[in-house]
Amino acid sequence: MKFEKALSTIIKAIEKDPSKKVLLKDRIDLLGPIPSLAYIIINGVEVTQAIQYRHSNEHLTDRADQAPDNAVRLVVDKPAYVRVYVQSGLARVNNVRGSVIIQRQRYGVWTDTVSLEQQWPFSIAALRNPVYASERGTLSSSLNFIIPSAQMRGKIRLKVHVEVPGEARYTADTNVDIHAYLKQTLRLRGIPVQYWGPDATGTQVKLAAPTMGDFQRTLATTLLMFPVSQTAEISLAGTFTFSEPLTGAIANGACPTSWNNLLFWLAIAKAFDGNKSNAVYYGLLPNGIPLGGAAGCGGGGGTAAGFVDDGITMAHEIGHYFNFRHAPGCLPPDDLLFDPNYPTYEPYNTAAGGMASIGEYGVDPTTGTIYSPNTSRDIMSYCPSRWISLYHYQALIEHPLLDPKIIPGERDQLPPYVYEKFRDRRTIPDPTPPWEGISIFDHKEAELQRYVVITGFIQNDQLEIRSVLRIDTRATTAGRRLEGFTAELLNANNQVIHRSPLLNLVSHACGCGCSGQSSHERLGVIQAMLPDAINATTLCIRQNKEEIWTRRASGQELKIDDVSAFIREEDLTISWHTSASDQYTVERLIRYLSNNGSEWQTLAVNLQEDRVVIPAASLTSGYAIIEVVVSDGFNSAIGRTSIDIPVRPPIVTILWPVEGSTVRTDLVARFWGTARASNGESTPENCLCWELDGKPIGEGSECWKELPEWEGEHEVTLTVRGFGETSQTSVIFMATCTGQRPYKINRNARG
Ligand SMILES: [Zn+2]
Repeated sequence: MKFEKALSTIIKAIEKDPSKKVLLKDRIDLLGPIPSLAYIIINGVEVTQAIQYRHSNEHLTDRADQAPDNAVRLVVDKPAYVRVYVQSGLARVNNVRGSVIIQRQRYGVWTDTVSLEQQWPFSIAALRNPVYASERGTLSSSLNFIIPSAQMRGKIRLKVHVEVPGEARYTADTNVDIHAYLKQTLRLRGIPVQYWGPDATGTQVKLAAPTMGDFQRTLATTLLMFPVSQTAEISLAGTFTFSEPLTGAIANGACPTSWNNLLFWLAIAKAFDGNKSNAVYYGLLPNGIPLGGAAGCGGGGGTAAGFVDDGITMAHEIGHYFNFRHAPGCLPPDDLLFDPNYPTYEPYNTAAGGMASIGEYGVDPTTGTIYSPNTSRDIMSYCPSRWISLYHYQALIEHPLLDPKIIPGERDQLPPYVYEKFRDRRTIPDPTPPWEGISIFDHKEAELQRYVVITGFIQNDQLEIRSVLRIDTRATTAGRRLEGFTAELLNANNQVIHRSPLLNLVSHACGCGCSGQSSHERLGVIQAMLPDAINATTLCIRQNKEEIWTRRASGQELKIDDVSAFIREEDLTISWHTSASDQYTVERLIRYLSNNGSEWQTLAVNLQEDRVVIPAASLTSGYAIIEVVVSDGFNSAIGRTSIDIPVRPPIVTILWPVEGSTVRTDLVARFWGTARASNGESTPENCLCWELDGKPIGEGSECWKELPEWEGEHEVTLTVRGFGETSQTSVIFMATCTGQRPYKINRNARG
């Protein structure tokens, strides 16, 4: 080491002034016999699923931002990218190649299992002193490997070997241990929105509601960025018809009125759905709705919406659902919602590049894209080049909304949970209990309870109540309490039975350069939930003790009769008869309870008459109880019927590559898909079969496969067999050597 230091000083001196070379030669001779500097070393192995620390003290100048290598926690069932960095002793060493073998413990002994698939480049040049940013920022300066999702489980040792073939002096080995015990799952309750309204020219159009496949595809971007399993749990919460163009001015940075009207209905759909606390609610809109400034809207209040295939907006809105505020980058000056705790990540934050640097180097294993902290900004900012930051990625680790579970590795390995729970090893039960799926949080949904749900709008202090429902649901936990406002339920003697705060379901427009809502504004969708009481006769909302809105029970009885449901072809028709006083406009909603689920699920809201036709595919297959709820503005009546929903073929979607995309022939390609049976269950992994250009290439949600070397079009097909039904889908993509698309693919041109 002492020798190297001395030599390094001499080399630096020569670099500074080459004329000293001769003079310094004597000093080199003084060092005595020269040990060989012809060697290579492995200078670290980075394992990244989306973003990771590596030698953070060499590029992050604030100590608070630094962490040990690979300190970002790895999760189960998400692919990882392994980057092996090699350095030389002195001169540049070309043609360095490598291999990585996964070892697992078998009865306490590390044993080779599989060799990892290598990615481009297959050889690198090892340099003595590479520049940090160029080494980290380019794929070609490390030897790269893929750990498929299926291997990301338990305690793993990466046995890394590098060498220059045929040169014995250039060889190095190392072992890196990694752990993947944390499994997190993103649960999405999708609300498909169909649009029956004017298009940009004013002509009435009917845009079909997005399908399960649309939700799966749009969610893929979020799954790439978040520390979650590659398979999300998506279920649909009814279909909702909207007829208003999403245009309109942005008032003080908040969502335009049209978006608020949309979010109002989504808030009702969510309450009617039971306000499930373990899922993210998202309304998906068909493309073609006339649009104003906002590309998406939502907030911490529990609902958000965006368009089909706009994955970035969905990821951003889902971030708000996790209570993430805006990252301070490229925001308009009046956005007061940004997160003041967002780290500055020196030296990457410059006003010119936006202030929301992702903080470390990000990698997307699917495309082999590297996101530099110098140019990439956090998903919660408005900057153009977005990826998830260290800050938000780490906030999602062990997040209750992702149902984090500790799962075991191999059979003879106990999960770390065991040692935590049984501090005294002697108390570990023998045989050990089944550890599969132990939740970190003992999450229990609250029981459904009868509530009076009041929903409306507020603009400054102008309150407009549009909906009063008495339904079995759960109290919403999201939203911001409006200071000075209370909702009350009173009896005939004007005594208060229940009192609750009024919540502002904060909403702000996103993805458009329009700004977030000022925190002082009272603007947007509001909701109050009061436990119901039989003797209630009056509802009122007070602002600082003063009554600003009142509604009394109508004297007349509200009744539903003759509820019936039938299916013809793809459509489910539900009809009934409502007897009501016409004191207020009657509200009508429908939900259902399937025999394989214990929860009411929204089917339709915002109905104009005592009859509705909806796609039967909105329901999971099997026996279902249908519940119609009508409200006269104070009371609600309920009517029920039942129906058998026939089994449908599973829904299968290819998430990567996407139609018309370009995949590099020099990278081992990821084929990633998902399938769900009509009863809502995900199909077993071995029921998913992949074919590339007609030849089988593997099975499961994910399959990594080398592409043929030639450039050109390929067709990948995913077939799902399960429950006696088969579904198939195909995607055509382009393979190029450079990753650049040489021309636009025209699918029709194929004939
Ligand atoms: Zn936002």
